[in-house]
Order: sequence, then C-alpha cells, then structure tokens
Amino acid sequence: MLPQEIIRKKRDGGTLSAEEIQFFVNGITDDSVSEGQISALAMAVYFKGMEYDERVALTLAMRDSGEVLDWSDLDGPVIDKHSTGGVGDNVSLMLAPALAASGVYVPMISGRGLGHTGGTLDKFDSIPGYVTQPDNALFRKVTSEVGCAIIGQTANLAPADKRFYGIRDVTATVESIPLITASILSKKLAAGLHGLVLDVKSGSGAFMPSHEESIELAKSLVAVANGAGVRTSALITDMNEPLATAAGNAIEMKNAVEFLTGAAIDPRNWDITVALGAEMLTIAGRVADRDEGTRKMEEVYRSGAAAEKFGQMVTALGGPADFMERWQSHLTLAPKVVDVFAEQEGVVEAIDTRQVGIAVVELGGGRVRAKDAIDHSVGLDQLAGLGAKVDAGTPIARVYAHNDDQVKLATNRLRKAYSIGASGAQSNSIYQIIDR
Ligand code: URA
Repeated sequence: MLPQEIIRKKRDGGTLSAEEIQFFVNGITDDSVSEGQISALAMAVYFKGMEYDERVALTLAMRDSGEVLDWSDLDGPVIDKHSTGGVGDNVSLMLAPALAASGVYVPMISGRGLGHTGGTLDKFDSIPGYVTQPDNALFRKVTSEVGCAIIGQTANLAPADKRFYGIRDVTATVESIPLITASILSKKLAAGLHGLVLDVKSGSGAFMPSHEESIELAKSLVAVANGAGVRTSALITDMNEPLATAAGNAIEMKNAVEFLTGAAIDPRNWDITVALGAEMLTIAGRVADRDEGTRKMEEVYRSGAAAEKFGQMVTALGGPADFMERWQSHLTLAPKVVDVFAEQEGVVEAIDTRQVGIAVVELGGGRVRAKDAIDHSVGLDQLAGLGAKVDAGTPIARVYAHNDDQVKLATNRLRKAYSIGASGAQSNSIYQIIDR
C-alpha cells in the first residue's frame, strides 16, 4: 500500500477500508508516513468526512498504536468520564472519588489545560507532593487500593494520536468531528475501560462552536465508542457560564474540597456531577437506573465517603496526609485579592465564557502553547452566574493575582465578558442525554 494512494482515495470522497486505515496509522506511529502526508490526509478527512466504520477503524488503530491497559485483576467495573472541556469545570475532582466510594474503579487519565479551558492535571499540580506522572505500578496500586487515581497521560498511550494531533493543531484540521472522535476515544479506550460517560459541553465556553455541532460530536462519540465495544453514553451540558464559581487551578481545587466536604456547593456543578455519576453507576451495573444512581451519588457526598476517598487518593499519590483537614495551609493562592465590579448595576444577561477562561490564561493560570509553564495560584472566585444581580456591593468576580497590572487586565477582560441588563437570563445544566 502507498500512503499517497490512501490520501488520494479520501481526497476524492472514497471510503477507506480498515486495512488502509491501519496501514496509515502504523506509518504515523513508526514515522514511515511523512508530516506532509499526515496533514494531507487530515485535510482530506476535514473536507470529505468519514463513515461510521472508518471512524471505528481509526479509533481502534490509534488505540492499538501503543499500550492498552488491562484491569482484569480488579474485582469490579472500570469506568471513566471525559469532558470536552470548559471553564470552571472541576467535575472530575468530585466525580472520581464518589464512584470509588460506590464500588466502581476509576483510573482517570486526564490532560493539561490548553487555550481557554482548564485541565484537571494542572489542578492536581497545585497540591504539594502530588505525583501526576506516577509509574505504572503506583498507578495500578492506587486504583486498586483506593478505587480511583487521577493522573496524566503517559507517552505509551495512543502515540499515533499524539503525533496526529500535533500535526492537526498546526494545520487547521482539529475541527473535524471524525478526527476529534477518534482522537478522544483512542486515548480513553487505551485506558482499558469497561464503560465511559462523555460530558459534551455546549455554549459560549465550549470547544464546539454551536449546540448542533455539540450534539453531532456527542452522537459520533457514543456510536463509535459503543461500536468499539465500550458501553458509552453522553450528556450535553451547558457552558454558557462557568460551571463552578471558581476558575483557575488551586482555586478550583479549593472549590472541589468545599464541594466534597459540603462547606460550599455550586448548584449547577452539583447537578452535572451527580447526573454524570448516576450515568456512570448505571453503565457500571451498580444501580438499576439513573434515579437509583442519583440517590447513590447524593448518599456518598452527604455521608463524607467521597471526601474520604479523595483524601486517600491525594495521600497515596504523594500529597499531604491531612489535605482534607488542612487544605488552606497546603494550597497557595496569589496574595493580591481584588473584587471586580460591573460598570453598571443590573442582572447578568450573558457571559462570554471563553473570555472568562482567557482572563485566567492572561493571569498566568493557563497556557497558550503546550510547553508553557503556569502559575497555579492565580484565578477567579465568586464568579457571578447568569441571572445574578450585581451592584456596587456585589462583584462579578474576585481576582487572585500578584500585581495591579494583572488585576487591570483581568478586570477589563471580565467586564467585556459580562453583559449586564435589566432582565437577566436563565441558567441551564443538562440539555439532553445521548444513549447508544
Ligand atoms: N481533544 C482531543 O483529545 N482530541 C481532539 O481532536 C480534540 C480535542
């Protein structure tokens, strides 16, 4: 087979066979296919699309390009969640320990933030001592003994996707639903899961530009993951405002600890976290239906069992043994704390959530390029939601920064992101669930 013939076939709108896709992916992995050929195929797929069978074949070939984890030594179901990313989306931090407290194993391989969205791994880097890149033995030990382990991706998982994604990123070919589907799922399936729940965001802070495209992506992910043998469903959830009232790294960790301990719970974050957990418990066969799953999730939060699991995971991965009790002395927040007020009194009518995420990046809490270092201590708190009343006494956000210039930058960005009017707007949480 020749790579150029495969590219030509796709360029002309043909359907690639599983063998052709496998051949091309082998070439991506072993470098026998050039960067130019990979970008040409990506562009051809961008314009001509891929049939369902092609998407499954691409997902499986990229999954098998490296190590595929095997959890058959565990005595329970192995389930994970994947979010397409958003602002103030710290759901994974509360979700994994709640599932572990319900008898489900969650070996969660998560990513760093890029662009305006935050990354779970960066949030864990705000805990002193926490090892986000443990060796395989420690990852397996913590997953088996605690029930959950949130860590970073190793080079061995889906290496074909790593090369392919890097090339897509610089050739304007990221925004292709077949390619996004195979990219996300190859990594998740390489983690050896029995089931998966996807949180596909829709709204001004979401990765996909329109609600219709979020639904299309969710349908593609659900069909392909089930086709590849992993029971999967998706929730389409709202990202027209930050999910938590916090955005940043240490600040979202603080928000998660307060959620887990019951000290402060953001209502939309509660709705979405409980719904995702109920779905995961249903897929895992731990509960009969979503209603029972919802009750189970509420129980593990209210009893403190989820908080206990979180503390155990932090300690087992090198963090402080008293993290849950003394998080204030372990998390570092930037010293300059300033409330940002809207220029006029009124009700929040719309939020450009992407801009809120960019405010965090500009503070130094996110990265523009994958290699950039970040500042875990900066961020935003007390973010006003849609429909909230803001006035001279109620800010749109509280900024954690190091100096006046940063505060000024964040203030300007936040004031532009928030539209204040007389009538307000309604908040949403979950739009729909997409089943197999
Ligand atoms: N996230 C991924 O992992 N891959 C994509 O292609 C897009 C988002």
